[in-house]
Amino acid sequence: MATNWLGKIRCAVMLTFDVDGVSSRLHSNPNFAKFPSLMSMLEFGPSVATPRILELLDSYDIKGSFFIPGYIVETHEELVQKIVSHGHELGHHGYMHEPPSTMDKQQEEDVLDQGIEILKQITGHAPKGYRSPSFELSEHSLSLLASRDFLYDSSLMGDDSPYTLDAGSKQLVEIPVHWSLDDGAYWNFIPAENHRFPPMSPEFVYNAWSEAFLEIYERGGAFCGYRRSWYRSGRRHGPTESRSYHRHYEQHGSNFQNRPQNHRYGYPFCPAAAFLPALQTQSPK
Ligand SMILES: [Zn+2]
Repeated sequence: MATNWLGKIRCAVMLTFDVDGVSSRLHSNPNFAKFPSLMSMLEFGPSVATPRILELLDSYDIKGSFFIPGYIVETHEELVQKIVSHGHELGHHGYMHEPPSTMDKQQEEDVLDQGIEILKQITGHAPKGYRSPSFELSEHSLSLLASRDFLYDSSLMGDDSPYTLDAGSKQLVEIPVHWSLDDGAYWNFIPAENHRFPPMSPEFVYNAWSEAFLEIYERGGAFCGYRRSWYRSGRRHGPTESRSYHRHYEQHGSNFQNRPQNHRYGYPFCPAAAFLPALQTQSPK
């Protein structure tokens, strides 16, 4: 039985993308700049895969959320302008993909403010959403986000539907993630880092995501998919994204239409920030 916590919306689907490019590996080991093959695989994300993903989202008229480190925004400004002009949400994802758990409080504040300023220059306003690099918040993160008027975080795994968190004197919405909905868990094959697990087949991954979606759909709730475009999701030999949208849209599209006519978006796939008004008035917890 659906919990119906979003009013007449039975199931919300948020498609979220982290456009990390070279930032995460250069942050963890600046020596990786001397590994051209690794750098090319990472650069494939913003240069090739993300434009493809934008095309795919456009073809279904789906709006998503893109979390992008400040360094990648600075070095791929045209791409980021395109993401915004196509109606997608831009979220904070550090400057050089620094996990907050690895920084002291002052460093974390500096990185937070730096990223906010960079995103502001593109969109004209401060970001509403934050996703911590590597899903690793620090003990200070939630209160720092609240103090800078973020409305939601998307880094924790405390439920499989959005929930609220106390963050000092304010509350934040948590839009939860899980490694099983992360393409990195299936395709993280990086010899330079000694990650040599055999990549899973697109069919295996499709089935895992499909089962997760169907369970949430049946019970009512929100499905938050999470992709990093430099993995297989954006490559021609990993067409999981395209097939997922097509199959589920065909099978469930008519049910998704039971939404209030005045809902801000005409489709069930929405940027994460689109759900905040509903979440703030009717938390599932
Ligand atoms: Zn990331």
